[in-house]
Amino acid sequence: MARRFFLFERLTRYGPVEIGRALTRDGQKGYLASCTSDQCGWSADYTSYGAVCMAAKGHRCRIK
Ligand SMILES: [Zn+2]
Repeated sequence: MARRFFLFERLTRYGPVEIGRALTRDGQKGYLASCTSDQCGWSADYTSYGAVCMAAKGHRCRIK
């Protein structure tokens, strides 16, 4: 989970995946999708909200 982006504000979620606004340390904005399932650990960051939503919807969690 040690990514360049860190969660700034929670926005919404799709199933186990949370979407939030993210910021880098140097102030760049982005969006972060992060699976809340402990054993999954999937996360991805994007520069647009549309892209992050697509990624979150497309995530197939290995943990059922
Ligand atoms: Zn997952």
